[in-house]
Amino acid sequence: MWVAFIVCGLAACSLIDPLPQEAEPFAPPPVYARWWAMTEACSGRSGNLGAVDWYRVPGWDFIRGGQSVGGYWNRYSNRIVLAEAGIEHGPTVRHEMLHVLLRSDGHPRSQFLGACAALVTCHGVCVRDAGLWQLPQEDYVVLPPDSLDVASRSELLAPESDGQRWVALEVTVWNSRGRAVLVAAPGDPVTPSTFGYKLAGPFGGISGEQIATDSSTLFFQPFETKRWVFEFLIASDLSEHHITPGDYAIGGAYARRWAVFDTLAVSP
Ligand SMILES: [Zn+2]
Repeated sequence: MWVAFIVCGLAACSLIDPLPQEAEPFAPPPVYARWWAMTEACSGRSGNLGAVDWYRVPGWDFIRGGQSVGGYWNRYSNRIVLAEAGIEHGPTVRHEMLHVLLRSDGHPRSQFLGACAALVTCHGVCVRDAGLWQLPQEDYVVLPPDSLDVASRSELLAPESDGQRWVALEVTVWNSRGRAVLVAAPGDPVTPSTFGYKLAGPFGGISGEQIATDSSTLFFQPFETKRWVFEFLIASDLSEHHITPGDYAIGGAYARRWAVFDTLAVSP
């Protein structure tokens, strides 16, 4: 516990939390305040975003403690270090924010795969840390995805203070039965498909889907609703998390069961 009392100045920080090579500080963009508020709301915790120091490392991931990671938070320095590819990806950023709010570098199932499951990534070490999921009850039926009700809602959000503008797509899936359901989702039997999105606009479209990293994602209590939020930054290119201005048909899916598509006018 001694280390908890160290005041982390520059010299002390480099001992406690040596930065990855090529790490550079960056100022958190205004959207991080919105993502912080979302993480506070789901976790039921509150904290000071301004006390966090942010660093980025070029690329998709980097090595820390012999493992490839997309980011981490260090409790003593209160630093978040992210791979460059993740700094505009809300679920990745909110994962690290959740560590800050919980004041823990562990991954309690009740938060990462429970209260905040709709908003944060959890795979690899997160799932291992959360511990093996157990069926909460014996009484359930295995059903195909078309037994569930899937809906999605897209929204052009108000501009952030730096002019960035985002589109949010919230996908909800509801078990309308008074009985627990385990979904027989398509895809790889070990990592089947869960939430997905598709956007078709004036210059083409983008689509993507997530895979189940934890079986709890496929299990629904009677009348349970699960959600996932996809976000897209309005930019000059169409890529995984970027869309260009224009009129879009936009919709979400769960286990490849598609919701009715919305149309959305996306303006910069
Ligand atoms: Zn983590």
